Amino acid sequence: MKTTNVILAKTAGFCVGVKRALELVLKAINENQTKIYTYGPLIHNPQVLELLQERGITVLQPGGQVPDGLVVIRAHGIPPKEQGDLEAGGARIIDATCPRVAKVQAIIRRAAERGASTIIVGDADHPEVEGLMGHTQARGFVVARAQEVAALPELAEVIVVAQTTQSKAHFADLVERIKARFPQTQVHNTICDATASRQGEVMELARQVEALVVVGGRNSGNTQRLVEISRASGVPTYHVETEQELDLEEMSRYRTVGVTAGASTPHWLISNVVGTLKHARALRPGSWTHYLYRAWRFFLKSNIYVAIGAGSLSYTSSLLQDVEPRFSYFFVAFFYVYAMHLLNHFTDKASKLNDPVQSMFYGRHRRFLLVTGALSALLALALGLYLGWEAFAFVLFMSTLGLVYNLKIIPEGIAAVTHIYTLKEIPGSKTVFTAVAWGVLAALIPVVCDQTPEITYSTAIAFFFVAGMIFIRSGLFEVLAMEGDRVVGKETLAIALGKPRTLNLLAAASLIFGAILVLAAWLDIIPTLGYALGLCGLYALGYLTIYRRGLMDSGLLLESLVEGNMVVAGILAFLWDPFHTIF
Ligand code: SF4
Repeated sequence: MKTTNVILAKTAGFCVGVKRALELVLKAINENQTKIYTYGPLIHNPQVLELLQERGITVLQPGGQVPDGLVVIRAHGIPPKEQGDLEAGGARIIDATCPRVAKVQAIIRRAAERGASTIIVGDADHPEVEGLMGHTQARGFVVARAQEVAALPELAEVIVVAQTTQSKAHFADLVERIKARFPQTQVHNTICDATASRQGEVMELARQVEALVVVGGRNSGNTQRLVEISRASGVPTYHVETEQELDLEEMSRYRTVGVTAGASTPHWLISNVVGTLKHARALRPGSWTHYLYRAWRFFLKSNIYVAIGAGSLSYTSSLLQDVEPRFSYFFVAFFYVYAMHLLNHFTDKASKLNDPVQSMFYGRHRRFLLVTGALSALLALALGLYLGWEAFAFVLFMSTLGLVYNLKIIPEGIAAVTHIYTLKEIPGSKTVFTAVAWGVLAALIPVVCDQTPEITYSTAIAFFFVAGMIFIRSGLFEVLAMEGDRVVGKETLAIALGKPRTLNLLAAASLIFGAILVLAAWLDIIPTLGYALGLCGLYALGYLTIYRRGLMDSGLLLESLVEGNMVVAGILAFLWDPFHTIF
């Protein structure tokens, strides 16, 4: 399959100031029961703003009525008078002004105290510039164009600063003109290095690629600046907010495409654009690979693939316990996992951030997925009933757990102390619950429903095999979803441990997983199939390494690879199967 060479700018995505502001807001949400406001929109990204709104954050319009609660000052900063009004009105302030913006404010304040005027090179209606103007003691001027320099009044002592996201070339040009008018001008190049290196990288990228894609909000000033710089270099430039806006027909003309993003663009949006661009040539509308891709995407995004994986694990763990596999065991796991994945998606607010492609897919096929999801849940229960009361009880218990996972069921006394109201708020709970649920469904049901049920050490190993596979798989998916999960307040293992430690833990778990299966086979606790299944540990280590080395960032291919481990286990088991009775 022909792929497009995509070069991603190292500086693409959240800058430290935006990251810090977002983290301060999320921390405030987690620690406070009171109403929280941001003074103006926190970040120029509509998807993130929408989720913050769902978490109860209200955007306060500058100059509006002072609310009772916490007010977060965003990274751009605000004029001191407005901050004073907020404080006088009784609002509690969390100051998320970027330290680099605060430094510019301090330069202006010092100049104003000694009576100097300040010329700010920037956009007069940008919130950062409005904030800076507030520190000039009414001796400030904003210039965005050369003509505005000529229109300045006569000034005695002058300093020049830049809005932190200005382009270097534009600033240099205006400084030259300002100096020509006011030779004693003191120049402070306050363009943030995050901005400068982002812009420098765009120019560098433009020399290496045939086209450049800039990802970011249309109302984001620094994103627009990147677009302007890229266009000025003469390379075809496309500004998109999401990968859905890419014209695949057009993008398929290029063999090498560069991607950069504004300071308020989340990583997940950038990854989706990169993933789509890589396959733009192969996915050109009308090509056979386009139809193949769409078919595979349906298979994966509808959860049929992961449900087959669940059935495969059930089949494999039957063999590990010397239990004759049956279609009914396979389908209990299949239907349960299919139904629970759908339920989980429809109740998961982060998924529209973490996986917009999946979200759109769910939106398009909503009715089909809801109907088949409900039918699957009923079929899993009916099959459980058919297999016996133990299987029915397992399915019912696990389904109930899945349903109450998001509900406030923690007793008030405990919740008041721990601030944990639902099971999902327990750090790392999702990874552990998912692993246990799959272990029960795929490993325990076959053995308790066997004609001669015999719980032995092999049951413990089969349970460990299923839960281990799922723990590693879910752990990596949580790493991929960290940014979005953080915004919606999910307490996943990856968020609790951080990305590097989670990946180390998963890599160690993969090795231990493989070693235990081989050891158990060697000790005769499980059949010789255990030797082959040790490969699944290496397979998991393989996809973790691929991800770590940046060979696959996210997207359909990585997802297919990760879910494929379960199917590989099923194939290995099928090749080994002494019963061969399932088919
Ligand atoms: S671009 Fe620079 S100055 Fe502006 S918020 Fe980001 S880090 Fe701070």
